[in-house]
Amino acid sequence: MTIKKATILGATGSIGIQALEVIEKLENWEIAGMSCFQNVESLADQAARFRPPRLAVADSAAASSLKKNLPAGYQPDILTGSAGYEELAALPDVDVVLNAIVGAAGLKPSLAAARLGKRLALANKESLVIGGRILMPLLRDTGGEIIPVDSEHNAIFQLLEGRQQEEIENLILTASGGPFRGYSTASLEKVTLEDALDHPNWDMGSKITIDSATLMNKGLEVIEAHWLFGFSYDKIKVVVHPQSIIHSLIELIDGSLLAELGQPDMKIPIQHAFTHPNRQNAVSDKLALTEITDLTFQEPDTESFPALKLAFQAGRQGQGYPVVLNASNEVAVSAFLQKRIAFLEISYIIEEMLEKHQPVDLKESDEILELDRQTRRKTKEFIDKISDK
Ligand code: NAD
Ligand code: MG
Repeated sequence: MTIKKATILGATGSIGIQALEVIEKLENWEIAGMSCFQNVESLADQAARFRPPRLAVADSAAASSLKKNLPAGYQPDILTGSAGYEELAALPDVDVVLNAIVGAAGLKPSLAAARLGKRLALANKESLVIGGRILMPLLRDTGGEIIPVDSEHNAIFQLLEGRQQEEIENLILTASGGPFRGYSTASLEKVTLEDALDHPNWDMGSKITIDSATLMNKGLEVIEAHWLFGFSYDKIKVVVHPQSIIHSLIELIDGSLLAELGQPDMKIPIQHAFTHPNRQNAVSDKLALTEITDLTFQEPDTESFPALKLAFQAGRQGQGYPVVLNASNEVAVSAFLQKRIAFLEISYIIEEMLEKHQPVDLKESDEILELDRQTRRKTKEFIDKISDK
C-alpha cells in the first residue's frame, strides 16, 4: 500500500489535535507539515512525535523559540508568517491539506492548496464564508476538492453523494442550540464568559464555542453550505437538535428525509475527510442506537439569538456583507473573551457594522482581506467607544 501524506494547518488547536490522533491510527499516513500560531511548545511536542520535514509558525520570534524546543537531531524547515502558511499549504507531494486554522487567516492557505488542485479537508469554515466566491471556482479549475470537516457539512456531503440537485428540496443543518438554548433575551443579559464557554456537547476552541452560544456558528455554517453545495439560501434550513446525534439532513422532493447520525465526535468527519471515497475502521467510539432515548427538534429562536438572522441576511446580500459579518464577529468575540463586552453586545456590534457597510464587488483575495482589515479596525474603534462608557 502506498503511503499518503497530509499537512495539518492549525495542528495545536482542537481540530488539529484530533486530526493527529486520527492520522496516528489510520494505516499508511504520514505528516508532511504542520503549523500553529504562537503555541510553539505544543507544536514542538507534536512535531517530535511525527517528525514532519516542515513546520510553520506566526513569526521569527516564534520560530526561534520553536527551534529551542525541538529534540536534538531533528531539524525541520521552519516557515513563518502568512507566506509561510501558504507555502506549507502548497507542498507539492501532499495528498490532503487539513485546514484547521481559526478565522479569516485560513483563507490564503485554503486558496494556496486549491491552486495546486489538492484535496482540502476543510474545518476553517471562515475560508468559505468570506472567500467561497473565489475558492469554489478555483477548485473547479484546478481539479481540487473540498471534503468538509465541519460535522454538519460532512453529513450533507455524504447524503448528497450520487444524487441530482433537482431531487433535493432542502438542506437541513442541525444546531445544538449551545449552552443558552431556551434563554430569553432578558436572561441572556446576565450570562458570563464562563457560562458561554461551557458547551453541552462539544469540546472546541474558544472562538467557535462562543459562536455556538450566539448561534453565529450556525449562521457561518449556512453561508458555508451555500458555497459548498451550491444551494440558494431559501433551500438551507436550520433546526435545533439538542442531542447532536443527527449531524444534518437532506429533504428530498418526494418527502423523504435522509439523515446522518453518529457520536458527537469530530474524529469521525476528520477520518472521513482523509479516507474518502474509501472507509477504514472507526478510530472513535460508535453510536449505540439503543442508548438514545430522545431525538428532539425545535425552531431556532432568532429573537434571542439574532446572529443567525444576520448571517442569513449577509449571505443573501453578498457584496462584502459576509466579510463584514465574519470580521466584526471575530473582533467582538475576542473582546467578549477578554471580558470587555457583554454577551448580547456581540450580535449588537455585528449588526452595527453590517448597517454601516457599503456594498462592494470583491473579486480577489486581497480585496477581501483589505475589507476584513478595515472592518476589524472599525469594530475595534466601536468597541473602544461603547466599552469606555
Ligand atoms: P482552535 O482555536 O482550537 O485552534 C486554532 C488553530 O489555529 C491553532 O493551532 C492556532 O495556533 C492556529 N491559529 C490561530 N490563529 C491563527 C492565525 N492567525 N494564523 C495561523 N494560525 C492560527 O480552533 P478549533 O476549535 O480547532 O477550530 C479550528 C477551525 O475549525 C475553525 O474555523 C472552527 O470554526 C472549525 N471547526 C471546529 C470544530 C471543533 O470541534 N473545534 C468543529 C467544526 C469546525
Ligand atoms: Mg459545525
